[in-house]
Amino acid sequence: MAYSLPDSAIDYDIEVRINPTTRVLEGRSVITFNRTREQTLILGAQFEVTQARINGQPFDPETDQSHMWQIPVAMLRPHQIEIHWRGELHPLDETLDHEQTLNRPIAVSAVSGETGTYLPNASYWYPRVMHGLVHYTVQIELPSGQRGLVAGRLVEEEETDSGYRARFEFTHPAEGIDLMAGPYEITTDSVTGIKGELIQLRTYFHPEISQLADDYLESVKRYFKLYESWIGAYPFTEFSIVSSPTPTGFGMPTLTYLGINVLQLPFIRDTSLGHEVLHNWWGNAVYPDYQSGNWSEGLTTFMADYTYKELESDDAAREMRLSWLRDFAALEPGQDSPLAAFTSRTHGASKIVGYNKSAMLFFMLRDLVGEEMFNRSLKGLWAMQRFKVTAWPHLQKAFEMISAQNLQPFFDQWLNRTGAPNLTITDVRQEQADTGYRLNITLTQDEPPYQLRVPVAVQTATGEETHILDLKQSGQSFALDINGKAQSVVLDPDVRLFRQLAPDEAPPILREVMVNPTTVTFLLPDTDATQQIAATLAEKLQRRAPRIIAANQPIPATPTLIIGLQHEVDAWLSAKNLPSRPEAVNDKGSAQAWTLTGPDGGSLAIVSAQDAASLEAIIRPLPHYGRQSYIVFNGRQAVDRGVWPIKVQRVAVE
Ligand SMILES: [Zn+2]
Repeated sequence: MAYSLPDSAIDYDIEVRINPTTRVLEGRSVITFNRTREQTLILGAQFEVTQARINGQPFDPETDQSHMWQIPVAMLRPHQIEIHWRGELHPLDETLDHEQTLNRPIAVSAVSGETGTYLPNASYWYPRVMHGLVHYTVQIELPSGQRGLVAGRLVEEEETDSGYRARFEFTHPAEGIDLMAGPYEITTDSVTGIKGELIQLRTYFHPEISQLADDYLESVKRYFKLYESWIGAYPFTEFSIVSSPTPTGFGMPTLTYLGINVLQLPFIRDTSLGHEVLHNWWGNAVYPDYQSGNWSEGLTTFMADYTYKELESDDAAREMRLSWLRDFAALEPGQDSPLAAFTSRTHGASKIVGYNKSAMLFFMLRDLVGEEMFNRSLKGLWAMQRFKVTAWPHLQKAFEMISAQNLQPFFDQWLNRTGAPNLTITDVRQEQADTGYRLNITLTQDEPPYQLRVPVAVQTATGEETHILDLKQSGQSFALDINGKAQSVVLDPDVRLFRQLAPDEAPPILREVMVNPTTVTFLLPDTDATQQIAATLAEKLQRRAPRIIAANQPIPATPTLIIGLQHEVDAWLSAKNLPSRPEAVNDKGSAQAWTLTGPDGGSLAIVSAQDAASLEAIIRPLPHYGRQSYIVFNGRQAVDRGVWPIKVQRVAVE
């Protein structure tokens, strides 16, 4: 593929030999600087440089205080540097559990072992060019039984008794090189892209999951069809899914690297896989400008995770939007920051803004410019910015050019402000008009006002009409002509605006008692053994020692967790004058959990089991269902679950 390459000043060729048994890496780099520019090369401290040449002349590189190898700037004026290096990689640590891996920053050490080798760019496993993007070729040599890859096109591959050798080239500007290897079984397929070219698809799977390969390849083909027609031709020549012995999840150009455990989860093919495939357009081909904010996670979440919900049903899509608002409402003071400040996911709160609020921005933008203009703008953005560093203003410009609208206020308020609009219907009056009725609706919001197109649903005896109110001030009245006599007006019933939820608008989910540091716990069991199981469950749910209060105490206004056996729970609910178990969980399964709003407005989560063994069985699975309002288990198996419906802001009309 030939693209114009403005950053084509550096060509980087590597030959690397890795032995995962001894963990020894030996490499040779040839770096060609086609333009003179100040440069530094950095190599990890565990490596030694065995030979270095500049334009064929030997030289001695220096190390700095951190014992990284630094190639001094002045030496780089000539055009070609050759470096030979070798060293020992860190052992692969397979004991990390899912939680540890997800909660740590992207692993930065180069690790190797017989079950897997992972050399992330950030580990300095090769002499890295510190400034500028490179085009590269990498030749990998591994012992027999091992196979490996880097992002890019597979140019050559050879397998003999003495080992495996493969050569890759990446002809687009790349930020760096990540290398993966393992005892992989390779399954190959292909798909014809919209321009008629063949795209190679591969799985590099550990033998224990190789039977999943065909299903994964079929799913990848589906995503290629969706995104090629939606955005434009896939910008690379291949795509691979690579399994990792640790429970990681990374995406890179032309491949995704997912933990064996992750790949075994049944929903990954329908969610994360599509997200990672789409990053080959947004992120790996149109590069975010990290200094001015990362738009790519929001756009990818909108066009992948969220789009799959839209394809499922309107309700599922609305539920996802509501969950974004609910998560945003649960942020602690100080955790919110403007979307423009988001660079990459470092903790849960950054995801709530950088992924969810950002995805909602694209949802609102589509409502604003219309679906056709929105999709044409995406194609335009792709055509203009492919293989270029791209900032939010480039997106704004693409959408403005194609929709012929001034989108400055829209982008400004959603990118640069923290918080969310707080909308209320403060007054509704109705009068009879010549051909029906006239409604006067007053909306208010906090200062400074957002500019919003606010959907309101007007309910009449015969049906419902939706109107869009163009709100620009902190208090504004709108006159609407309606057909029948209005009975009530509902604010944004479909959750189409990123906004603060009204109190009790979103009924509680289990997560509230899990994450809130003020949560208290009632343990109802009266035998020590069952009490101990309940305490363990409470600790697993809250990831801390539970604050336990006596069962006869009043219910506090803070989030509250109640755990007990069925008869104990029923007796407690009745003693506290709370509603008995809801229809959704009544008489179902061996254990149930559900939420309700307590007498003083706090969220209650109740966990009930038919016996001690059934309670013990949910210790492991229950913490994974924080997004649900109720859940039913049979043994360890979740058999039913759901979220209580939204309680919309409804104002009755006289
Ligand atoms: Zn992503």
